[in-house]
Amino acid sequence: MQCATTGCETCFTTSENSKKFVDIAFCKPCRKERNKDLLVLIESDNKITIYQEEQVEEAETALNKLEANVRLDLHKTLDTIHELDSLVVKTKSGHMLTFCCISYVGHSTITRMEAQEEISLRISTGQISWGALVFKRGSRKDPEAASCFTVPGSKAWFNKHTSANSELSNVKVFVDDSDDHVNSVDTLVDVQSRLLNGGHSLIKLLNTSIHYDSVGNNDSDSSEEN
Ligand SMILES: [Zn+2]
Repeated sequence: MQCATTGCETCFTTSENSKKFVDIAFCKPCRKERNKDLLVLIESDNKITIYQEEQVEEAETALNKLEANVRLDLHKTLDTIHELDSLVVKTKSGHMLTFCCISYVGHSTITRMEAQEEISLRISTGQISWGALVFKRGSRKDPEAASCFTVPGSKAWFNKHTSANSELSNVKVFVDDSDDHVNSVDTLVDVQSRLLNGGHSLIKLLNTSIHYDSVGNNDSDSSEEN
């Protein structure tokens, strides 16, 4: 099996990979390097940009230049719909919302590489504009701390630094199927954070439980939603 890093000439031997590390995508030297990753940005034409732990400021600046009103988790959220399903949501004021995907994955896992491919695919169909991978999450052993986990590399950090498009600059929505991600993003006052329960429809949630016109975009009918 090949190391997932493009250009790396070190490969796993079958025996090394088949026993303990079935889920590992990188050879040892690459794993050491990939463990320092903070944020991966995935844009159209398979443009991949990696920021490492010591590049927090650069990563925040990059996120600030990217726009998405709606930030969707990948596993059990965005992947509950087909990559050709339309996510188009129009606000009452007639503005179109922009979408991105944000996935939490392990640094060295095959899931990481699969998530990257899945996000690239959904960018190529036009379903989302761009996507990102992050690698930090609060411990499941401490749910209370996990619910306010906002360090660089977390989904809360990602949501804090990602912009929204100028016409709808105050419409920021995050959807995830995990309590801790939803709760930690909910600590940000300007982001509407929503839990997608298993078996429920993402499209229905996006169209019924979110207030796209209630926040500061000078809609004439916005007062009715206060
Ligand atoms: Zn390698």
